[in-house]
Amino acid sequence: MVVLDHVDKWFGDLHVLQDITLSIKRGEVVVVIGPSGSGKSTLCRAINRLETIDKGTISLDGQPLPAEGKALAHLRAEVGMVFQSFNLFAHKTILENVTLGPIKVRGLPKDQAEAKATELLERVGVGHQAAKYPAQLSGGQQQRVAIARALAMEPKVMLFDEPTSALDPEMIKEVLDVMVDLAQGGMTMVVVTHEMGFARTAANRVIFMADGQIVEENTPEEFFTRPTSDRAKDFLGKIL
Ligand code: ATP
Ligand code: MG
Repeated sequence: MVVLDHVDKWFGDLHVLQDITLSIKRGEVVVVIGPSGSGKSTLCRAINRLETIDKGTISLDGQPLPAEGKALAHLRAEVGMVFQSFNLFAHKTILENVTLGPIKVRGLPKDQAEAKATELLERVGVGHQAAKYPAQLSGGQQQRVAIARALAMEPKVMLFDEPTSALDPEMIKEVLDVMVDLAQGGMTMVVVTHEMGFARTAANRVIFMADGQIVEENTPEEFFTRPTSDRAKDFLGKIL
């Protein structure tokens, strides 16, 4: 469903994505791990075209990513993204944060958008916070709203870029639980995270990146117990 074919990207002289070829099937959950600066965020951002690429192609359901205009807005709706920082609209209520996209981009009538948002907010466990503003919620609650907001667009794939790394430890689990639930519900997901528990529970595949390259890919079981490359062994030695 998401296919990257020989993708290269440079930031000036820095070759941040080096000949990346990767195919993500419908319903698959892929965890991306690797040292800081290895290109994980750039990879995610390229998939919803927050970054352009210099060589190769990226396609979603067989269609190359659109470059601009309405088609790009639609692509962004179909590729949900959740960042490390929650990025909610501070001056809108929780409910408005979740209904805005469906009303503006999908053209959903307000009452339908609200009904759906209410359902999603309940699903991620913040249904009772709908009338509040983001600043009145904990980090974990805000991140769950960010997930609900992305889901409201009915994305084909969800990208998560270190969704729990800005959270206090007690809030990490509540966000991971929502993600595990989503994974088990069949959502196609690309997740940049160092949460091994999540990878072991929910991932079909782990991709290890270093210096802009995919160095290793395997099942979580194999990758964590028997990494083959020295880079991966070294990295796991530091984080486990
Ligand atoms: P981290 O684990 O720290 O989040 P990452 O694997 O997500 O790292 P990226 O954010 O993809 O890494 O960055 C890859 C490389 O590209 C880094 O060296 C980074 O400094 C560089 N880089 C990222 N964005 C830009 C930019 N907009 N302009 C120039 N260089 C950039
Ligand atoms: Mg990053």
